[in-house]
Amino acid sequence: MTHMIYPQTNLNATEQLIIERGEGAYVYDNQGKKYLEGMAGLWCTSLGYAHPELMATVNEQLARLSYSHMFGGKTHPQGMALADELAAMVPVEDAQVFFGNSGSDANDTQIKLLRYYFNAIGKPEKRKIITRQRAYHGVTVAAGALTSLPVNLQFFDAPEEALGILRTDHPHYFTGRQGDETEAQFVDRITANLEALILREGPDTIAAFIAEPVTGASGVIVPPAGYYDKVQAILNKYDILFWADEVITGFGRLGEDFGCNAMGIQKPDMMSFAKQLSSAYYPISAAVIRGDMKEAIVEQSGKVGAFGHGYTYSGHPVACATALKVLEIYKRDKLFDHAATLGAYLQTKLQQFADHPLVGEVRGKGMVAALEMVSNKITGEGFADGSLGAYAISRCQEHGLILRAVAGNSLAVCPPLIINESHVDEICSVLGKVLDETLDHAH
Ligand code: PLP
Repeated sequence: MTHMIYPQTNLNATEQLIIERGEGAYVYDNQGKKYLEGMAGLWCTSLGYAHPELMATVNEQLARLSYSHMFGGKTHPQGMALADELAAMVPVEDAQVFFGNSGSDANDTQIKLLRYYFNAIGKPEKRKIITRQRAYHGVTVAAGALTSLPVNLQFFDAPEEALGILRTDHPHYFTGRQGDETEAQFVDRITANLEALILREGPDTIAAFIAEPVTGASGVIVPPAGYYDKVQAILNKYDILFWADEVITGFGRLGEDFGCNAMGIQKPDMMSFAKQLSSAYYPISAAVIRGDMKEAIVEQSGKVGAFGHGYTYSGHPVACATALKVLEIYKRDKLFDHAATLGAYLQTKLQQFADHPLVGEVRGKGMVAALEMVSNKITGEGFADGSLGAYAISRCQEHGLILRAVAGNSLAVCPPLIINESHVDEICSVLGKVLDETLDHAH
């Protein structure tokens, strides 16, 4: 035991895995044992480990300018170039970029930008935010209130009411369907609930609707066809902004540049990024908003004398240089196309487990997937707690594969984008063994 308070950990558990180094898609523990990193760390190490160009970029930037801030008119070439590059890539109208350090702080920033913007345009009452059940948007005080997973809310006294957080249905047909409802009926019902919520609360009091295009921590939920069309039609009708949390889905994860494009979400008003923006070689996040929103914010800040929000490490030069190089590599190596092709292979291969007695649903898109383990394959009924997921993950580790159990007993798969078919085969070969071992264990 060290003096650490471990993040997102059962603090009563004693089992630990000490990871010492990484190379390509593999990491190695302190005994020298090799593991395929089937979760890309925490959905982030898209370009794998010990990438020579990224190591060189970090070192070169450290030597050139290890730190400079962006307060009060200072800036630097790497930050400016990265903002321009991102703005040119994203589907937000005349995109404007604010840099931070983590997905959570990007989402906190977005809440502040929303407040500032609606105050600026004379609509201060437009402040509530709709999030979805089972959503994960981070863990800082404000972003944590947008998150809907009980483990992240319980005992933390998140200021949900003070922040005007409203929760609507999650779009998971497998666990959310009622009776013999079809997918289309499910979508109709949950989007009707969304509209009813908006009308009950008053459209003029609601600023934005936040969604992960495909969720991560809540179990890799891929909404049914037509869901986002219906959601966006309702939001447009009531003048509510669409805020895409692309902290996981940004930069190729779903087999396209952005999750919005992969899922048919038209012109989001706001987008949040982190993780694959720098392939986790250096912490950086980006909160992106529409150009006209920034204009209103600029004007408003004139009245105060400054836009009073920013972190010491907003636009850290090493992080910006790293992210610029990462974006260059994505483009040069056509990694989003690679993710589309290999993602199709991954999804097809994983379907072999759909018939396994423990597996209720195999789902995913592009290079992210989950297998949901259930106690009753016919009804989809789950297990009482997440201990089976934890068992399966420990068996994966035993066999040299790192995965994560999410939303209880769903096994998430989210490998680095640089892997090839043989890595997918390796993941599937371990998964086959582990599902059988877990089934034996469950009986
Ligand atoms: N949003 C989403 C969709 C995420 O998956 C995460 C982290 O997993 C976050 C926000 C928070 O990011 P961070 O852990 O960098 O604060």
